[in-house]
Amino acid sequence: MNRVINFSAGPSTIPLDVLKTAQDELLSYQNKGFSIMEVSHRSAVFDDVINSAEKRVKELYGFNDDYAVLFLQGGASLQFAQIPMNLSTGKVCEYINTGVWTKKAIKEAEILGINYKVVASSEDTNFDRIPLIPELSKDADYTYICSNNTIYGTQYKEFPKTKSLLVIDSSSDLFSREIDTKNIGLFYGGIQKNGGPAGVTLVVIRKDLADRVASNVPNILRYKTQIDANSMSNTPNTFGIYMLNLMLEKLIKEGGLKAVNEKNEKKAALLYSAIDEMSDFYKGHAKKDSRSLMNVSFNITKGEEFEKKFVCEALENNMMGLKGHRHLGGIRASIYNAITYENVETLVSFMRDFAKKNG
Ligand code: PMP
Repeated sequence: MNRVINFSAGPSTIPLDVLKTAQDELLSYQNKGFSIMEVSHRSAVFDDVINSAEKRVKELYGFNDDYAVLFLQGGASLQFAQIPMNLSTGKVCEYINTGVWTKKAIKEAEILGINYKVVASSEDTNFDRIPLIPELSKDADYTYICSNNTIYGTQYKEFPKTKSLLVIDSSSDLFSREIDTKNIGLFYGGIQKNGGPAGVTLVVIRKDLADRVASNVPNILRYKTQIDANSMSNTPNTFGIYMLNLMLEKLIKEGGLKAVNEKNEKKAALLYSAIDEMSDFYKGHAKKDSRSLMNVSFNITKGEEFEKKFVCEALENNMMGLKGHRHLGGIRASIYNAITYENVETLVSFMRDFAKKNG
């Protein structure tokens, strides 16, 4: 069986051993004679799965019992609206704009008519960096950041030191590194990059914040509703949560976030050093101090025609998903947890050949 090397930004590659476990258990989960897809979310069997996933998320990140772990639907995109709906009380909500994904969140804040302020932005340099963080309010409802920008390939090396609570969109660097949980009010992300298939949004929220919600917010959009129902106020994505639980089991077995981050650092260093070495031919988008360990966006200096050729020839060489996002163009290699060092070596070797032939 040929497995392609999948550099897609998400949904993205899932480790073969996890897929095989899911395959083995597809017809009969733990010899019970049914698939996990066919069982009630109210059953003890599924309870074990969701409780295990919750426990593993807390264990990996070190979130204490002040926090609730939720597995929701509607994508990370629904959170852009759900967050201000639940957490804005009329004080300022601060946003740091690092590109498309924060712009969408800011747009929802605007539509909802809440008191928000964009306190920093890197838009003037086409989002090629994490902007300098100005002095922030001591009394904001929250300060909102996107930990890793999937399109521009920028990532916070550490989170801003805020007096108010942080809200963090970690969709594209979820489960990829350790984080400081101290000041976090809400931490979330779609799982479809490092946590399994699309269709589950992880939300970790400090429980007391759920009480902020205004009386005109519909029940199904209140975090409180889902906290009280253990994420099962409506039928959750049972199969997605099962897959996430398998992914988390593997991650813990392999040494957790510290170990995976070390691997990710090595992979990213290999790829960025190749780009820097061949800087006549390849040009990275992100400034060095803002470079993402997950999404590496770059251009070919000779132009778009060569970028198209690169993507086509990469595919012929068993590497897919390298076309840049439509907002930025160029090439993007997403090197999430499931991409191995050897996979990146294969890409770098292809890049060297391509530059030699076309430079
Ligand atoms: N935030 C970030 C950082 C993302 O990369 C994405 C999607 N790639 C989203 C939010 C939106 O996620 P979804 O499509 O699950 O709504």
